[in-house]
Amino acid sequence: MVRLVDYSGETVQEMLHMLRHPGTNPPSFEAHVMGTSESSLFLSESHCYPRGGGQPGDTGYISHSDGRTAPFFEVLPGELIDHPVEDSSIFNVGEPIVCSIDPERRNAHALMHTSQHIFSALAEDIWGAETVGNQIGMEQSRVDLLFEDKTVFDPGVLIDAVNSVIDSAIPVNVHEWDRDTITNHKDMRHMKFIDRIPPSVTHLRVIEVDGVDLCPCAGTHVVNTREIHPVTFKGVRNKGKGRLRVSYSLNSD
Ligand SMILES: [Zn+2]
Repeated sequence: MVRLVDYSGETVQEMLHMLRHPGTNPPSFEAHVMGTSESSLFLSESHCYPRGGGQPGDTGYISHSDGRTAPFFEVLPGELIDHPVEDSSIFNVGEPIVCSIDPERRNAHALMHTSQHIFSALAEDIWGAETVGNQIGMEQSRVDLLFEDKTVFDPGVLIDAVNSVIDSAIPVNVHEWDRDTITNHKDMRHMKFIDRIPPSVTHLRVIEVDGVDLCPCAGTHVVNTREIHPVTFKGVRNKGKGRLRVSYSLNSD
């Protein structure tokens, strides 16, 4: 049976990646093939991260015990979590499989995504700049910031502040909090969307970079900021009134 939950007004397959923190080095997992389309596999359960919130979905391999193996491409969200494959016909509905998530890609996204929490929080603290968009990548990420006056932006100030948090080995915690606790918390960020979530969703997953950031989030994260590599500024572009698109990478050594 597929475990279904009501995340956002729609009843969808439970995203089991959310139960695991840290979100790095995901173990392989067993499941059954629930259904197929020409180019997708749907599994009885999935610990894969499906694309969303600016973070790309997982990729990896799905194997049958007799040796049939297929790579799956970027996992996508949906009523059932979608594992795109080249040719689904080598798998049969009902048979057991093992799913192995590419750890290099997942880990890079978890580091980048956690650094984006810090980046966005500090841009807000320093200039009151709101994050209005982001795209995480393995090599480079970008954050769209909305300023009252964008001439105040100084990339060196922001990058130094982010690296100071990374250097300080700050714990990254996950909470499962009810709506009242979230809504009434004085330090909670990114709350605009909460009114769009139906009342039937009583609890949300909250990510806390201790003393730096606190917000509802379904992404994958490291457990301590010391795991993130130092941030390097890669460029800034104007994106209209008050908006800047700031790009950065993580040094790998
Ligand atoms: Zn997050």
